[in-house]
Amino acid sequence: MRAEVVRMSAEQINMEAVEKAGRILKEGGLVAIPTETVYGLGGNALDPKASIKIYAAKGRPSDNPLIVHIAEMEKLSEIVTEIPEKARILAEKFWPGPLTMILPKADIVPKETTGGLDSVAVRFPSDRVAQEVIRAAGGFVAAPSANTSGRPSPTRAEHVIEDLGDAIDMIIDGGPVGIGLESTIVDFTEDVPVVLRPGYISLEMLKETLGEVRMDRGLLITDSSVRPKAPGMKYRHYAPQADLTIVEGHEEAVVEQINRFAAEAAALGKKVGIIATDETAGKYPLGIVKSIGSREDEDTIGQHLFEVLRDFDHCQVSAIYSEAFYTPRIGQAVMNRLLKAAGHKIISVS
Ligand code: AMP
Ligand code: MG
Repeated sequence: MRAEVVRMSAEQINMEAVEKAGRILKEGGLVAIPTETVYGLGGNALDPKASIKIYAAKGRPSDNPLIVHIAEMEKLSEIVTEIPEKARILAEKFWPGPLTMILPKADIVPKETTGGLDSVAVRFPSDRVAQEVIRAAGGFVAAPSANTSGRPSPTRAEHVIEDLGDAIDMIIDGGPVGIGLESTIVDFTEDVPVVLRPGYISLEMLKETLGEVRMDRGLLITDSSVRPKAPGMKYRHYAPQADLTIVEGHEEAVVEQINRFAAEAAALGKKVGIIATDETAGKYPLGIVKSIGSREDEDTIGQHLFEVLRDFDHCQVSAIYSEAFYTPRIGQAVMNRLLKAAGHKIISVS
């Protein structure tokens, strides 16, 4: 493996390694960093060559712009031409944290970083290790999720090693991430703020703070003629190797249906995977059952979603069946990812 892997935690930051990461980034290299959402693949956001390298390492389509990460509020005005009042309010309330804002870009941000767009996505992460690396790198780090394009986002350093260990210079292992879902993206380039990607900060939380906020129509309608405004949201994503089907409805009916699928597969000598919760895992006698977390503590579902999808790639199952997770606060964000992973294959039972 090419990448040097360095472990550290927010409590014990290895400043020597942080300085080294900063040097690599300033010289145009790539360093994977932990953040509170998912691991990011960092490159200097103001260096077009670094951005091109990020696209190449991930196999990411070059029309899919990168999020620029900052570690000081004052840095925002250097990379955007305008900060609307509502964006200021959100930044004050949710930064540092899992919120990305789309604003008109300043000239110093190269088009290579923004996928050719005149706007730029900006986030100020709360993870202390990420903040130190961003500062050491000069203040502006473009960091998409550190996975191969199309695969589940990485929530542990092991996932980054698996996908990108041979393609990048350094990986900082900060342990498992806290949230496990990518940031909420809010677009400020129109009059009313628009959510382009749901995340840990829910639409309701945004509305409570700002009043009117819309959800991008392209997210709500699966009809492919309505394109999501965030270029990245149109791609199939997060897909495990086996076919994934979601079963939604009342708990008992869902368990019954999934057990029927598992029995049919077993009769054909096939193995299936089942994504359950702590509450239901014991109700599936057949197949490889993985609990994603507890419905009593929905954050645990966000934390483990990508890990469970990734783990099934090592299990040689022929199909995966998952319960639906429409939990009150982050359900929208979780189901957005799960539906994409399933190619929108969902069965309703009652
Ligand atoms: P990732 O880096 O994997 O978290 O993905 C970043 C997401 O932000 C993708 O869905 C991008 O399409 C979206 N994004 C980044 N910059 C912009 C922008 N300027 N306008 C709209 N969407 C953006
Ligand atoms: Mg991504």
